[in-house]
Amino acid sequence: MVEGRKILGDPAAIKQQFPIFSEYPELVYLDNAATTQRPQQVINRINNFHQQENATIRRGVYQLSARATQEFEAARSTVANFFKAPQDDCIAFTQGATESVNIVARSIIKEKLKPGDNIVVSLMEHHANFVPWQMLSQATSTELRVVPITESGDLDLDKLNSLIDSRTAVVAIVHISNTLGTINPIKVITQMAHAKEVPILIDAAQSATLYPINLTELDCDFLVCSAHKMFGPFGVGVLYVHPRYHRQVQPYNYGGGIIRSVKVEGTEFLPYPHLLEAGTPNVAGVIGLAEAIRVIKKFDRESLVKQLHKLTQIARQKLADIEGLSLVGNPTLSSSIISFSLAGMHPHDVASFLNEDHIAVRAGQHCTQPLLDYLGWPATVRVSLSIYNNLQDVDRLADSLREMKDFLI
Ligand code: PMP
Repeated sequence: MVEGRKILGDPAAIKQQFPIFSEYPELVYLDNAATTQRPQQVINRINNFHQQENATIRRGVYQLSARATQEFEAARSTVANFFKAPQDDCIAFTQGATESVNIVARSIIKEKLKPGDNIVVSLMEHHANFVPWQMLSQATSTELRVVPITESGDLDLDKLNSLIDSRTAVVAIVHISNTLGTINPIKVITQMAHAKEVPILIDAAQSATLYPINLTELDCDFLVCSAHKMFGPFGVGVLYVHPRYHRQVQPYNYGGGIIRSVKVEGTEFLPYPHLLEAGTPNVAGVIGLAEAIRVIKKFDRESLVKQLHKLTQIARQKLADIEGLSLVGNPTLSSSIISFSLAGMHPHDVASFLNEDHIAVRAGQHCTQPLLDYLGWPATVRVSLSIYNNLQDVDRLADSLREMKDFLI
């Protein structure tokens, strides 16, 4: 590829970069909100690390260890640069978005909570950005305030604004809902929180890959995401902490790797981000994430997202045309995630039937039980598209659903 020239979106060509589709040529993979597939380049990078570079980081003075340490720290720069973080040392590596939220809750916010304070989350949060805050509020006798959604599936911004007050310790909001696909206006929400001097956490698990995030401009306080939803490996997450909070971060796990000195009398810790990376980290995984980012950066994300939104609109229309099918939510701004229900069929049965046609979708509550309770759906079928999906995939989904309906209902 010519340096600087981006690859435009040809799903067929993109698909070729992901070996799972050569392994299973029939596969229509529509569960990208759960995890994305891995490109060959990322698989090769992780393999090469294990075959040619394997060593633990930080401790060794020998060449292999020094090189692994260098690659690990280079990955931090790659991630920081990808999100336009103000400094490389804003990025800590964790096990995933879930762990990153737990760290913010227990190692940063907990310290500053006082009786009478409150925490603001929304009804559309994934359990990963709901339960840690619920647990924290229960443990500290503080209030958990839950922002409702509108009928269309948008966040109620006026209500959000009215729930944030001088006793709010943190606002924790998802960028893209993993169930409804709603894209929340994170810049507006960040400004809303900051206008009342309240820190804000953005859950970017569903957006980090394709929706460019400029942390320097956005100026949020915390951001979390997971490598495995970014064409990277399982078991690696990102936590971004703005420099204004670095000195307030407490260790999350105690152990080696985070230590300035240990005496029988007490221990002195390294500063953030190292004090969060206790024990031996997932070196190959972190290096794999950096490679995944190199893959993403080759694409023209703006045109890919436009194309993906167009494909999603077509999919929504084709699904809506199926008799007895109800789309769940119709957000003003929506990503490539669609939830629906088919009258007379349990979502799990729908997913099982689609599986017979090699179509992979998710059925259930998508770790958003408060949202589904509110909407009155026991479960939904969720379709989530990514850059390798094409019109043929959408047609196969719609055809299969129609056949299923004719056969069963
Ligand atoms: N937030 C959102 C919006 C998600 O979709 C997910 C994963 N489904 C998570 C958080 C948690 O990510 P992980 O399981 O990788 O920690």
